[in-house]
Formats: sequence, structure tokens, C-alpha cells
Amino acid sequence: MAKIKITVEGYRCERCKHEWIPRTKIIEEPIICPNCKTPYWNIPKKEKKK
Ligand SMILES: [Zn+2]
Repeated sequence: MAKIKITVEGYRCERCKHEWIPRTKIIEEPIICPNCKTPYWNIPKKEKKK
């Protein structure tokens, strides 16, 4: 039996650092973080627009 490394695509919340792998096929990015329920999981806190 050979061991191989499988990388699965997942997401990390920028707010609570929660990491998760979507169970269903990825069609669109998740709307909210399943842990802290923020819709801004994809946006870092310190990001500012000039
Ligand atoms: Zn979160």
C-alpha cells in the first residue's frame, strides 16, 4: 500500500481562521463561514480600499 498526499480544496475564514472543506461539489464560493457565520469570511479584517 503506497501512501500518497491528496490535497483537497477547501476554505479558510479570514475572521475566525476556521478551515473547512465543502461537502458538495464546489460550484460557487460559500456565502458564509460555517463556524462564525460571517459573510465576510473571504475578506481580511485590515483590508482597506483607497
Ligand atoms: Zn469564520
